Amino acid sequence: MPTNPLNHLNFSAGPGALPESVLLQAQQSIIEVPDVGLSILGISHRSDWFTSVVAELEDNIRKLLGLAGNYHVLFLQGGTTQQFSMIPMTLLRGRTTAADYLHTGYWSGKAITEARREGSVREVWSGEASGYRQLPSEEELVFAPDAAYLHYISNETVEGLQFHRVLGRDDVPRICDMSSDFLSQPCEANRYSLIYAHAQKNIGPAGVTVVLIRDELLKDAPGDLPGFLDYRNHIQAHSNYNTPPVFAIYVVLLISRWLLNDIGGLEQMGEINRRKAELMYRTLDESNGFYRGRAELQARSTMNATFNLRDQKTEQRFLAEAHAAGFSGLDGHRSIGGVRASLYNGLTLAAVEQLAGFMEDFLRRN
Ligand code: PMP
Repeated sequence: MPTNPLNHLNFSAGPGALPESVLLQAQQSIIEVPDVGLSILGISHRSDWFTSVVAELEDNIRKLLGLAGNYHVLFLQGGTTQQFSMIPMTLLRGRTTAADYLHTGYWSGKAITEARREGSVREVWSGEASGYRQLPSEEELVFAPDAAYLHYISNETVEGLQFHRVLGRDDVPRICDMSSDFLSQPCEANRYSLIYAHAQKNIGPAGVTVVLIRDELLKDAPGDLPGFLDYRNHIQAHSNYNTPPVFAIYVVLLISRWLLNDIGGLEQMGEINRRKAELMYRTLDESNGFYRGRAELQARSTMNATFNLRDQKTEQRFLAEAHAAGFSGLDGHRSIGGVRASLYNGLTLAAVEQLAGFMEDFLRRN
């Protein structure tokens, strides 16, 4: 078996790098799933095998997070973007009270736009004035005690901003988009009423979105939602309401096994991710201003390190040379440009060491 079948190291913000051992099992499953005798691309979503995949994955996620029994674990389609709509459709439509939203960057802006279609939104805090380079301190936040719910994004993927604490009041439903840091570290999941995260950053390929939802949150949901957009239908059908993405869900199962058995759990995963981020930011901070971190220090993300070089021309040359040297996916998001190194679960510390070495060398040559 090759030890490194890939020519490029994947620093993309998503879909992102997946562990090599998982890729090899996924490759095998395309030809034949062990013990089933069929390609995964042709296995029925109603088969006993797929039922057992969903059950084991749900169980693994519960184990990894220490999730309480009053949560449903769902595997849905439509990406995180669909959740931006499903959440306010379920919890805001027809209500007189507003929902509290934090506007911390590109993706929370999208979530707010969708919520406003369904009801009233109060922006608790906006990072617009700082160009979305900061996150609020506790003193800057006043949450409404009667809000329909509080919504925020734990890690703003575009800007590279991450909350390193849980926000909000315990008596208001707390809802969080964890798309870009889900299962990358422990997260006190039981303090949230709803957590959602698409797979294509830390836990698999695109096509499936994990939703953890506390049962009581749905008690007043409207009765006339489209069937596909009603969480209750997915709960009742055990994430098999219509044909689900069998392959994507299987890869997420492989990742959950890898997290449990190879990595040893979320404490260990968090420690590895912290070391990767530390090395990345040290490389920026010890460059005498050659590499300029975008996010304010306390808000720096362990998942997406965003930075600029002294001018556009040098930045473009850096990106071109990095790509030629085998470092893929470093371009910043189209909305803000710059450089973004994404350090998801599947990317190894050795890969970050190689990038840091390249960056030091580029600095010396320039
Ligand atoms: N939320 C966050 C934090 C994201 O990073 C992204 C995509 N990168 C989205 C939402 C949108 O996700 P999707 O493409 O699955 O709809």
